[in-house]
Amino acid sequence: MRQQLFFSPTMREVPQGADIPSHQLMLRAGLIRQTASGIYSYLPLGCKVLRKVEQIIREEMDRAGGQELLMPAIQPAELWEESGRLDDYGPELMRLKDRHERDFVLGATHEEVITSLVRDEVTSYKKLPMNLYQIQTKYRDERRPRFGVLRSREFIMKDAYSFDTDKDGLDKNYKAMYEAYTNIFKRCGLDFRAVKADAGAIGGKGGTHEFMVLSDVGEDTIAYSDASDYAANIEIADLPDMYEKAEAPFENIQEIDTPEMKTIEDLTTGLNTKSSSLLKSVLFLVDEKPVLIVCRGDHEINEIKVANAFEADNVALADEEDIRRIMGTEAGFIGPVNAPEEVTIACDYAVKSVKEGICGANLVDKHYQNVHPDRDFKVETYGDFRLVQEGDPSPDGKGTIQFAKGIEVGHVFKLGTKYSEALSAVYLDENGRSQPIIMGCYGIGVSRTIAAIVEQHHDDNGLIWPKAVAPFDLHLLVLNPKQEEQYELGEALYEKLKNEGYDVLYDDRKERAGVKFKDSDLFGLPVRIACGKKAGEGIVEVKTRRDGSMKEVHVDDLPSYLASLEKELF
Ligand code: ATP
Ligand code: MG
Repeated sequence: MRQQLFFSPTMREVPQGADIPSHQLMLRAGLIRQTASGIYSYLPLGCKVLRKVEQIIREEMDRAGGQELLMPAIQPAELWEESGRLDDYGPELMRLKDRHERDFVLGATHEEVITSLVRDEVTSYKKLPMNLYQIQTKYRDERRPRFGVLRSREFIMKDAYSFDTDKDGLDKNYKAMYEAYTNIFKRCGLDFRAVKADAGAIGGKGGTHEFMVLSDVGEDTIAYSDASDYAANIEIADLPDMYEKAEAPFENIQEIDTPEMKTIEDLTTGLNTKSSSLLKSVLFLVDEKPVLIVCRGDHEINEIKVANAFEADNVALADEEDIRRIMGTEAGFIGPVNAPEEVTIACDYAVKSVKEGICGANLVDKHYQNVHPDRDFKVETYGDFRLVQEGDPSPDGKGTIQFAKGIEVGHVFKLGTKYSEALSAVYLDENGRSQPIIMGCYGIGVSRTIAAIVEQHHDDNGLIWPKAVAPFDLHLLVLNPKQEEQYELGEALYEKLKNEGYDVLYDDRKERAGVKFKDSDLFGLPVRIACGKKAGEGIVEVKTRRDGSMKEVHVDDLPSYLASLEKELF
């Protein structure tokens, strides 16, 4: 491609409103332009990267037994009514009407469409298992679209859906997708972790993993072991029972005045004590029933663990009014001692280790001290109810937990029969009995993956593409096209390199050399070949973008030199 005519508008300055490197660089290098908030056009350079990433995804999905199809972005609202998600999905779902006032939605995901497709076409176990995928545009009216294509309102996703007759089949499909994702993100040059995640709102009680690209700009926190490959979203990282039961204190429980001391901080300062001596009590409504969760003052309660421990569909934090009604006191002073009968008291494992505890007395401005669990209040159950912290032991018994920020680029999910039951997608088994199809779903944010690649591969001067996803293989520059020897060598090399199968961006513009070098660094193609002063001798300068190494090479030696670089560029 001749750069003279190439539609790749660059920007020298950091664009306003772009806060993270990938957003800045994708704008500056002319990969994307914003059309509306969270809605982007991909310019030719960005489009080439998109196609490369898509191609890697296609190859790995096909290798894993996937079949590509393409479903519509516009979906009838009735399908979402059938699955129950028309209301559940909330304002993120974009809704519209056609000229006949019929309701439609713009697909945020395609479980409904694919399940109805398969329901209508697949009736026998003989047609299963099956794995169908597409690469297609999705719409989510995100509350805060930000960071360019990292969190946008229109974006490209690869979504795959598996259909099986039994759980073993689902496990097999899940494993194949997990491996395909590992290959895809490796080929994209990403440093990532597959982390255990929470099943959340998509439903289904099976396993789920998120593929997280390690990056400081990530919105998720990963807990990982420093001595094994254990990694989980902090939301679900388990903690073992590692606490010894403390001996009962000599002193009896005693009421103390704690005026206006409502928070852990107020109490540690006001009573001059450590937060690990405090018993923090939080009232939840677990499927409407009051449950008081008690943890140590230096720990945080994890709502997801509460929901999982009680196998609850709905866990809500009690509000001030609930607290008054159930506990008969104000928030900030509730506690497990003398709590009403109907309240279940569940303690985090760490509470066992508290010796002379301090907890709310269920009276305004009062706490108890010298509290000992089991002696002074009845513990219904001890369990793992808190968030992990850095320094906690890894659940697999190897090493300690560290935190890292991650960008979720992919998600694999065992759905089970949630959608097949809601939409009556059944098949006849070998005995002629009707059974719901067992499903899995597997998503990759294609646009987000590109932003994640940029986050991990750039420097102050611009992009540094891993070879597999670079928009071009080589950047050929003629430093002074008015100089005949340079121009002729440039033109000849351009033709020759193209014939050798390289995809070449050829800077034939009448710009100063300095401008060309700057743009070349900004574009970040793996190798730059500059025809300059030594063109007459047939010598060009070859620079690799990643390590900045430069070498003068005679054009006759160029093919072998480029071949030798090939291996290092990934
Ligand atoms: P997030 O928690 O980041 O909102 P999600 O859990 O809603 O993501 P999924 O429903 O699992 O996302 O969608 C599959 C993939 O689509 C995600 O792993 C992510 O890479 C991508 N994705 C989701 N929302 C967006 C968005 N607004 N912009 C770009 N990519 C997105
Ligand atoms: Mg997700």
